[in-house]
Amino acid sequence: MAGVILEQVTQRFGRHLAVADVSLRIPNGEFWVLMGPSGCGKSTILRTVAGLMPVQQGRVFLGERCVNQVSARERDVAMVFQNYALYPHLSVAENLAFGLKMRGVGSAVRQQRVQWVADLLGLTGLLTQKPGQLSGGQQQRVALGRAMVRSPQVFLMDEPLSNLDSRLRDQTRTELKRLHQQLKITTLYVTHDQTEAMTLADQLVIMHQGRVQQAGTPQNLYQHPDNKTVASFLGNPPMNFLPPWLLPNAPGEVTVGIRPEAIEITAPETGMLRGRVAVVEPLGDVTLVQVQIEATELWVKTQSVPVLGEWVGLIIPRQFCYYFDSANGIRLT
Ligand code: ATP
Repeated sequence: MAGVILEQVTQRFGRHLAVADVSLRIPNGEFWVLMGPSGCGKSTILRTVAGLMPVQQGRVFLGERCVNQVSARERDVAMVFQNYALYPHLSVAENLAFGLKMRGVGSAVRQQRVQWVADLLGLTGLLTQKPGQLSGGQQQRVALGRAMVRSPQVFLMDEPLSNLDSRLRDQTRTELKRLHQQLKITTLYVTHDQTEAMTLADQLVIMHQGRVQQAGTPQNLYQHPDNKTVASFLGNPPMNFLPPWLLPNAPGEVTVGIRPEAIEITAPETGMLRGRVAVVEPLGDVTLVQVQIEATELWVKTQSVPVLGEWVGLIIPRQFCYYFDSANGIRLT
């Protein structure tokens, strides 16, 4: 097993800057998640580490070894994509064994490895089936198994769960977490999905326009975002941003941020702000409420279930407010 290091990596497509001066140091055995809006360079980073794209600027290391000049085949990384392509004419066992066979691994060891991975992923009863006879979730597990079977040094996963329906996604995510805890193979994982990012990541990297915005534990990024981009990317609904005129004490060049769960709903006459309930989304344990205050909409996460259209007051506790420079979005306190 090995850690992964990116040192000032910059990648362009023609004149388009896809990855801009990215440095990451992923220790051996950790699970890191790359997250950010579409087109921010996540897949390009994965492809660069995998060796599917040459490093244009900077250096990539797997363990101690600089792999800039090492081909994808020789890097000993396994990649799992969103569109996993299983061989339809081969059985599950043959699909799992395929990569080992191509690498000249003997039949006895192949069988052993396939059995190991099938046990690990609950595929034992399916080994003789063809991919067409499997559910989406089972196919995804075979794709994962195919990557795991040769115990690579590093896993690279590009939205591997995004083709699954929500229940299967939840199950497979839990499975992935368990597998990682068991195998401790260094993993770099790309997703759009917050739950995946928050639950899987040892460290979460938020990217925007090819650059790393912030890296840290999910909890740290949620509680201490460095800028508005990170603050608005994590949390569902995301952090509310209040225009300065809504909070009389905030100076003009400051944008105030407050998370939906930090706002309290109260009677119209007792709140600091007063607005009308525009949306009510009961989720069972909590309710998401959108309150309209003139042209501003604020999301509130609450235990109560207000009535659509009614007037409510809002309490914005100062201790939960974040302050950002309105010009560049950088957090001030
Ligand atoms: P998504 O979440 O949509 O998959 P991403 O964050 O993975 O996006 P990348 O696929 O890494 O983003 O793309 C980064 C940027 O580089 C994007 O602006 C994209 O349009 C551009 N890009 C990616 N691949 C190519 C290519 N083969 N040719 C030209 N431009 C490309």
